[in-house]
Amino acid sequence: MIVLGLGNSCLDTLLELDHLPRAGGKARVLRHGAQPGGQAAGAMVGCARLGLQARFVLRTGDDAAGERQRTALTAEGLDLRWAKAVPGAASAQAIILTAQGSGERIVLYRTPPELEVRAEEMEAAMFEGVAALFLDGKDGGACLQAAAMARERGLPVVADLDCRYPHTPTLLPEIGHLIVPEEFAAQGLPPARAGQTVVVTRGAAGAEAWTADGPRIAAPAFPVNAVDTTGAGDAFHAGYLVALLEGRRLAERLAFANATAALACTAWGAQAGLPRRAPVEALLQTAVPLA
Ligand code: ADP
Repeated sequence: MIVLGLGNSCLDTLLELDHLPRAGGKARVLRHGAQPGGQAAGAMVGCARLGLQARFVLRTGDDAAGERQRTALTAEGLDLRWAKAVPGAASAQAIILTAQGSGERIVLYRTPPELEVRAEEMEAAMFEGVAALFLDGKDGGACLQAAAMARERGLPVVADLDCRYPHTPTLLPEIGHLIVPEEFAAQGLPPARAGQTVVVTRGAAGAEAWTADGPRIAAPAFPVNAVDTTGAGDAFHAGYLVALLEGRRLAERLAFANATAALACTAWGAQAGLPRRAPVEALLQTAVPLA
């Protein structure tokens, strides 16, 4: 089954610190490195590792950071037929500061406007064979267009929104499966519309979900030795998509997503820990979720 993804991809510079300093403070760097990241990119790599085919509408600059992303995403088996390196543009980059042992992090990012996917760049051919659309909310025009094209085709639209762009209020009702971190939900969410599922991820507390007419479901996280929670959300979205396309019920989707995300926390970096299918199944069968 094919999932079509649209959104962020970047190169992450990771700095693990002994603690996160306050403004004016200092911290010691314990290790550093660079790895591909970005919400939609992570979700698509997560889907590919779990056995879906992932088609990703990628935009990078025509620089070394872009080349590195394309090479890594191709190696993961992503379909990059609609990828473009924008001439003269710099690739998106993020600096991620994590504090050893605490799971806390600070993300600093730069996404050059030249990397925007425009609405008219969304093509019918992108949807050939596609079973679901995934968006992370970047590029409002393209998101709205893609969501409309998915709706015409009767495809589910799953989105991870963690950033409020000017188009976000218009986009929210177009999403069938809205997944947001609790910090985003705390700023207020409109009530679920008919047919919409809203999921809030709560870090080590797992996730909660509701629909317009069903009960609120809480799904606890799985116990793991969390090394770095960067990319936990991406893994959650990948797990949710896989379980959704397998026709699983909401509670099962949340459990599968929580197990996928828990495993992603056991490695350093956004994409490094995205698990394959077997360890997710094993965790679901052997571990008792945290109460
Ligand atoms: P984001 O990474 O988008 O900020 P969260 O921090 O809410 O999102 O994490 C997403 C999911 O990752 C959670 O719903 C949970 O399933 C899993 N997760 C995060 N932190 C941990 C942890 N310390 N232990 C186990 N699972 C975790």
